[in-house]
Amino acid sequence: MKQPREKHTVFIGAGSNIGDRTGNLQQALDMLDEFPQTSIGKISRVYHSEPFGSVEQEWFFNAVFQLYTAHSPQTLFSYCQQIERRMGRPAEHMRWGPRIIDLDILLYDDATHDLETLTIPHPEISNRKFVLLPLLDIDNPLHPVIGKTMSELLEACPDNSTIEPYSHMLLKHRGSRR
Ligand code: AMP
Repeated sequence: MKQPREKHTVFIGAGSNIGDRTGNLQQALDMLDEFPQTSIGKISRVYHSEPFGSVEQEWFFNAVFQLYTAHSPQTLFSYCQQIERRMGRPAEHMRWGPRIIDLDILLYDDATHDLETLTIPHPEISNRKFVLLPLLDIDNPLHPVIGKTMSELLEACPDNSTIEPYSHMLLKHRGSRR
């Protein structure tokens, strides 16, 4: 349950298309759950989605996690990068290439940040069905820059790649903390 100091609501987009793809999403979720002063809120369904871009690669599994946290966007971003490294993703990688795990901070309250390494809201939210569909399983927040809800963004989304809900369910609190 959300603790009083975990006052920020964050949506994280997760994707994997190498190895045990749903297992990788679960492992990333478990590691986020282990982060102090952070708790998991709602979890979307898992989606099976066609890869973006021209690189020949395996289909992705995608999901969105809602978190409550006391940490700043930068601290949370560093932790997400640590998870990616610990799970074996190399620091240097192809932009649209295959990945064991990809964690993106989609929304952080209704804050906006435009730093060199971190843009919030994530700049691609409105262009990606594999972000909008799982996010809409959880909530329909207003995009703080565009001023439209996620369902309005989905209606206008130019992404015509294939994406479908998958039967696998991610589990909350598998870790040892609780
Ligand atoms: P990608 O290849 O999609 O994993 O892109 C990773 C890079 O996107 C990272 O090195 C970040 O510096 C940058 N980035 C910018 N904004 C965000 C965000 N909101 N969440 C995650 N990565 C971001």
